[in-house]
Amino acid sequence: MRRYPDARALLTRAFDALDDWEASFGPFEQHASLAVEEERLAEALDEYLGRLTAPPADDGGNYPFFHPRYAGQMLKPPHPVAVAAYAAAMRINPNNHALDGGPPTGQMEKEVVRDLASMFGLPDDTLGHLTGGGTTANLEALFVARELHPDQGIAFSADAHYTHGRMAAVLRMAAHPVAATPEGRIDLDALEEVLKTGRIGTVVLTATTTGLGAVDPIAEALPLLRQYGVRLHVDAAYGGFFVVLAALRANERGALGLPGFPAEHFRAIAESDSVVVDPHKHGLQPYGCGCVLFRDPSVGRFYRHDSPYTYFTSDALHLGEISLECSRPGAAAGALWLTLRALPLQPDDGLGPVLAAGLRAARRWASLIDASKALTLYTPPETDIATYFPRASSLAQVDAASQAVFEQGMADEDDPIFLSTYRMEAKRLIARHPSLTAEQPHARILHSVLMKPEHEPYVEHLHARVEALADSILLSMSS
Ligand SMILES: *Cc1c(COP(=O)(O)O)cnc(C)c1O
Repeated sequence: MRRYPDARALLTRAFDALDDWEASFGPFEQHASLAVEEERLAEALDEYLGRLTAPPADDGGNYPFFHPRYAGQMLKPPHPVAVAAYAAAMRINPNNHALDGGPPTGQMEKEVVRDLASMFGLPDDTLGHLTGGGTTANLEALFVARELHPDQGIAFSADAHYTHGRMAAVLRMAAHPVAATPEGRIDLDALEEVLKTGRIGTVVLTATTTGLGAVDPIAEALPLLRQYGVRLHVDAAYGGFFVVLAALRANERGALGLPGFPAEHFRAIAESDSVVVDPHKHGLQPYGCGCVLFRDPSVGRFYRHDSPYTYFTSDALHLGEISLECSRPGAAAGALWLTLRALPLQPDDGLGPVLAAGLRAARRWASLIDASKALTLYTPPETDIATYFPRASSLAQVDAASQAVFEQGMADEDDPIFLSTYRMEAKRLIARHPSLTAEQPHARILHSVLMKPEHEPYVEHLHARVEALADSILLSMSS
């Protein structure tokens, strides 16, 4: 039977098992210093919960990330299975730095890393580990890129995550931003111009950009990269899990309703030298779970260190020897392990249907926006991120109306909606929408990440709300 799991029930079962485990080591005296004043705690807890659940926006509370009415940034809660698994392991608090810090979660980390590598079609001996997030994972991939090509830099699209430019500076590597098309994909002609200089050791391609949700044409870029003998790093922090759906044949994907999904570019990640994916984005995990993978396991040599604190017993490379971070939560590995057992990395079961629902929601919304008199689609969604703006005639109006929809949407008391804005360069907006007049260098447009499957049945309502807001805002602007 399929049923939506209740985190509370799972947690009770987990804590019962941990009670038994702890009891098996025999009683000991608890120390009085750890006892807390009951009233003080009750008061602090009231304030804590009050702050966590305060109304959003002006009152400084959280936005309802769990609800489909939140369609703004890349934010959603973890799956209840991950919540329970994380809390259970956290009670033991294993440290995945060294295998002895937590043998079970250390082993689970190796297993999930193998699962993620095989999801991308990378070899069985792929080297990898979990990280605190995509930033650290990308930092490690760029660090290896620098060690392999100390005299060369990296190239990435202007739409790549800002972390690449920043981490190149941290690593004192030369960074070469390459123009992106108006749709947000790296411009391969511009990339080739940079490759011709011979200054590039590794190219970073993004499989789902944070802004427009675009996918760099990885399959088309591969011959070019081979021709110039450069490495490929794929930043799939956000979109990596979509590769699960790329395994479907075109007709099967057609039946799922996913036109425009760039499956061949996700499949081409199998050819990359390194990949980053964030289980804390589309892998249903709480924050603190990124992953970096290297095709060539011998790059582990760059991590070598001589720690005086080696309390491990095995001779094998332990996780702390292939990671720049030292202490890392075993709970993150445990939560991902249990989640992938409950929701496997498959196209037609487990994670696949979760991801397909968001992709369909974005396509459905795009078609509603296309048919709307009040809204314009910026560009058809490749993944699950929609970009759109109120149908105005100038950039100043697009900017003002987008901001007004964003603010009025979340200020509504009865039926709020939570969107986000995204700043676009005039040149790009005009390239896709030449009828707009450009009296200013930038304009904000609206940006919705539809990363929850619950968005699929809700998208008609979201659209109706945004359309009504845009209608009234455009009307008031023209009067
Ligand atoms: C989120 C993201 C990052 C940064 O990862 P964090 O997990 O936030 O540290 C890097 N690149 C891309 C494409 C992302 O979506």
